[in-house]
Amino acid sequence: MKRIIICSWLIMALHVIAFGQNMNRVKQYVNDLSSPEFYGRGYTNKGDSLAADYIAVKLKEIGIKPIGNSYYQHFNMSINSYVGKPNLTINGQSLQNGIDWVAYPTSPSLQGTFPVKWITKQILTSRRQLNQLLASDLKNSFICFDSTVINNSDLYYFARNTFTSSPLMVKGIIDRVDSPKYSARRYVNDYGTFRVRKELMTKAVTSIDIDLVNKFTTNYQTQNITGLIEGKTDTCITLIGHYDHMGMFGEAMYAGANDNASGVAILLELATYFKKHKPYYSIQFIFFGAEEASFYGSEYYVNNPVYPLDKTKLVINFDMVASGTDWTELIHAELYPDIKKQFLSINKQNNYIQHLKPTGYEATSDHYHFHDKGIPSLFFWTAGGNEYYHEPLDTPEKLEYPVFEGIYQLVIDFIEEYQL
Ligand SMILES: [Zn+2]
Repeated sequence: MKRIIICSWLIMALHVIAFGQNMNRVKQYVNDLSSPEFYGRGYTNKGDSLAADYIAVKLKEIGIKPIGNSYYQHFNMSINSYVGKPNLTINGQSLQNGIDWVAYPTSPSLQGTFPVKWITKQILTSRRQLNQLLASDLKNSFICFDSTVINNSDLYYFARNTFTSSPLMVKGIIDRVDSPKYSARRYVNDYGTFRVRKELMTKAVTSIDIDLVNKFTTNYQTQNITGLIEGKTDTCITLIGHYDHMGMFGEAMYAGANDNASGVAILLELATYFKKHKPYYSIQFIFFGAEEASFYGSEYYVNNPVYPLDKTKLVINFDMVASGTDWTELIHAELYPDIKKQFLSINKQNNYIQHLKPTGYEATSDHYHFHDKGIPSLFFWTAGGNEYYHEPLDTPEKLEYPVFEGIYQLVIDFIEEYQL
């Protein structure tokens, strides 16, 4: 027994030493992809395509072959972004883009000074006050809900939908938030949605000055990147992660170090490992574009697969794998008891990840499109430490790598043992 314990500690120590040598390379991938050279890997200066080119070069260097003659699967989509330097002035103070405020990317161009109408629960629930409000012309106003409305989610969504639909349609809505989170969207609304830090958007604010210019592109070309390591069978395990992020909002760059330069780094490390250790199953790697635009890259892929879906045995997604050490979710594991059992047993034997939680169905990243096509799909996601999800502050120095290493080792062991 003692010998077994010493033995397993030795194996673990060897793993740690082995991975330690790779850590500089992992950090380099994350630093590179998060750097200003890639403009936040979104829709400013084709940052998404620059990141795709970087990954294709790395795959070639590692010795991973494309499927067919190209690593690239191009596709087109509509996308909304902002040009120039957006400006929002409140109380004579120009707010910092990305930190104090952001325009939700369904917002159209807006310029000028607009009155702000505050909406309270009392206004919405008093017939007299509501009638007065509905009789007033709000078409040129922004509305802001106070906390009595925001704290009642049914009332909030009802009011929000009412004020942003014709005939009432307001110029825009201001959401008061703890920290403004950006996104990417493939359509534009007729009204603006601004997210403003709540301590700046006080009830004293009765008007705003705005200068926002959007650029809506209907035929934007982007891409998925994919490559293959041939195993002893053509049945494959597909390892996926998205490389895109949100790009820029004015001077604010969304580095996306955890989301999801970390996922790209783990895929490149796994590619390096399996290139040297020929696997039983073939292993396909897919780096998706347009994940932040409502998972469009993976939606396009499952409808236009590069490798036959009926030969794809299992999909494992990596998205935000260096957040911190609070816990690691293995999403969808509850849907596949045999797979869950195997992951948990390897993890227990080797103590790779301290708090590994299997969970059920979640349509929160690219994996779910595969699940919906009938292919078992799992998703590794880590929690803790890095709280800067979809903010410019998701930068490399905030990443925590112990769990990243654990996931890397666990997936290698799983794939090497998974010969069902
Ligand atoms: Zn992500």
